[in-house]
Amino acid sequence: MKESILHFIWQNKLFQSHSLHTTDGDSVEVIDPGRLNTDAGPDFFNAKIKLGNTIWAGNVEIHTRSSEWAKHGHSDDKAYNSVVLHVVKTADAQVFRTNGEPIPQLELVYPDSIEENYAQLMKNSLRIPCENKIANVPVVFIRGWKNALLTERLLRKTANISEILKQNNRHWEEAFYLNLARSFGFGTNGQAFEMLAASLPMQILGKHKNSLPQLEALLFGQAGLLAANEEDAYLLSLRKEYDFLKIKYDLKSIDGSLWKLLRLRPDNFPYVRIAQFAALIHKSTGLFSKITENPDIQYLQSIFRVEPSEYWKTHYRFAHESQKSLKGIGQKAIEGIIINTVVPFLFSYADTRGNQNMKDKAVEILEKLPAENNVITRMWNEMGVASESAFDSQALIQLKKEYCDNRNCLRCRIGHKVLTIDS
Ligand code: SF4
Repeated sequence: MKESILHFIWQNKLFQSHSLHTTDGDSVEVIDPGRLNTDAGPDFFNAKIKLGNTIWAGNVEIHTRSSEWAKHGHSDDKAYNSVVLHVVKTADAQVFRTNGEPIPQLELVYPDSIEENYAQLMKNSLRIPCENKIANVPVVFIRGWKNALLTERLLRKTANISEILKQNNRHWEEAFYLNLARSFGFGTNGQAFEMLAASLPMQILGKHKNSLPQLEALLFGQAGLLAANEEDAYLLSLRKEYDFLKIKYDLKSIDGSLWKLLRLRPDNFPYVRIAQFAALIHKSTGLFSKITENPDIQYLQSIFRVEPSEYWKTHYRFAHESQKSLKGIGQKAIEGIIINTVVPFLFSYADTRGNQNMKDKAVEILEKLPAENNVITRMWNEMGVASESAFDSQALIQLKKEYCDNRNCLRCRIGHKVLTIDS
């Protein structure tokens, strides 16, 4: 049996708690099980236990069998002298501090159903291990868990953004530009887009922001997409411009073969996305400052409503004319950019400045945006766990990726309910 399940039972006081006695016959009352320690040292810190008539404050160590105390070397380790209670499933030996003092021991008694439910969760091959039980978990309970999951997700993204900032001398605009570029790749071309942005400093784009053709020349040139041997006047004009700018700024393009078109709808072709990205830069300077100054959902959406240059109305790629159509960034794509880039940056920026009001605004934006429709949210929906907004869908993505996929049910609040369902 895994020791972690005993941690879970102890932490949540799921053991039989009346008439508790140590193996030596002293009465036991668990006033506070303490705080789980995931580092070196005893398993629970700052517990409060009443043994007989005395209240002890100290640490608790947990093992499946008492004999593991000596096997793990705790008898000779002063770090374990502060243990006031040794909690075990089976007491098969006495345990001692380094000075030879015996340590009181308690055998945990708990419903068999907890271990049985846990074994089922760990072994089954359902899409989500608790798929056949989650319907019994009250919706209101899941709602409370979503709040914590969303905060966890935003804090994890904040940690990633801190790393990007470290590499960019804490330049928020530059870090935002790199991340924004990645989001324009919409998964398939995310990495190529990020490499393109990294190869083309934002300051260079800033110098040419008033000329859309020059922005396109720089972006398509650096993307390695102007090398095609096609007789297309627009392509040739961009190449001519790029050849000049490349020398001026000593630029080196990325490899054009990094871009993927296979299985993409034409609206998602990298040519269209790069043209949209150029139009966005043409329209806005200091994009991140604008966002922090006015984190209003309507305003944010308006920022990303851009139309690429005339040429792209009749093209999805160079030299291949198509029926005329507008190629602005679609509503779903705008929502995706706001959910995955704007909100995490806003939250992270507010977090570093201790600005709770702005953090709340970032969360509010997610509450106002429709839920994402992807393979994960559809799966939860089929299981009866619906997403009403992007707040919900982000929380459920966090749950699936960080908990369910790793079978981290002992740390999950739904797991707590599922494991104790029959107990
Ligand atoms: S982590 Fe939670 S939601 Fe996921 S399978 Fe385990 S108990 Fe269910």
